Amino acid sequence: MDENCSCVFCGNLSVGGLRVRGELICSSCESRITQLQIQDEDYKDWLSNLRPLWSKWIKQL
Ligand SMILES: [Zn+2]
Repeated sequence: MDENCSCVFCGNLSVGGLRVRGELICSSCESRITQLQIQDEDYKDWLSNLRPLWSKWIKQL
């Protein structure tokens, strides 16, 4: 069974992409995150999206 095939950030259905502990990050969001700059206007939005995921992943370690 394929549990999760939509991106956790944009919600787009994605084949492939990055899978982190069952959460899928599509390739466009992945490249956006890797190119994220602290001065970017949407930096805080990405950060607030990432934070709950990070704390979830840390708990699963
Ligand atoms: Zn995405």
